[in-house]
Amino acid sequence: MTARQPVVELRGASLTYPGPPPVPALGEVDLVVHSGEFLTVVGPSGSGKSTFLNVVGLLDAPTSGSYLLDGLDTGALHDTDRTALRGRRIGFVFQAFHLLPHRSAWENVAMALLYQGVPAAARKERAEEALRRVGLEHRMTAMPTTLSGGERQRVAVARALVGRPSLLLCDEPTGNLDSSNADSVLCLLEELNRSGMTIIVITHDPAVAARGRRAVAIRDGVLTESGAL
Ligand code: ADP
Repeated sequence: MTARQPVVELRGASLTYPGPPPVPALGEVDLVVHSGEFLTVVGPSGSGKSTFLNVVGLLDAPTSGSYLLDGLDTGALHDTDRTALRGRRIGFVFQAFHLLPHRSAWENVAMALLYQGVPAAARKERAEEALRRVGLEHRMTAMPTTLSGGERQRVAVARALVGRPSLLLCDEPTGNLDSSNADSVLCLLEELNRSGMTIIVITHDPAVAARGRRAVAIRDGVLTESGAL
């Protein structure tokens, strides 16, 4: 068996908002997430979760230390290259699904490939494949308003997957869902992870954090490994 590759490597990565006064929001984080892991990051409001998400999601660069994504040192990249890398390697899933209301499920998913130069027919085919992967083959042409919250989040997961990212980065993915829809979305993430997807879920909810296979806690910008679950 080949060794698992690091997908995310943070080395002494910290982020201080400039202020004034400067706010040290993320301490010196050392974290390696290998291909095929399912990591959860749990912490209360104000603990640094969004800051962590923004760094790992290539939305903000650490103010010191380094961040390697798929072995590539992102500190050396210009903004346009960071944006392109983010688009190709990271699939985002947010609490508020952010679907376009007047587009069908498959159109919402296909749109994620618009800027990757994928021809229209292939975009449709890949959107359908991604929707099948999240169990929505019977709702491909449905409009978001006719879908349940859990189904909308499944469309959002399909949209995140369609570009074949290295990492699925989820920010409170069940925050807008009732418990049965939340459970079905978490089951989907578990299933995707079993088929090899690398996943990070950021949450304030310990019950959600317990669904991963490895957990870290974040408090006052400091990450502490809680061990394998
Ligand atoms: P969480 O997502 O866990 O609620 P955040 O990452 O948003 O936490 O915030 C971590 C800390 O950084 C908090 O003390 C917050 O007030 C501060 N913070 C967040 N964004 C900014 C900003 N743009 N400028 C200054 N301070 C910020």
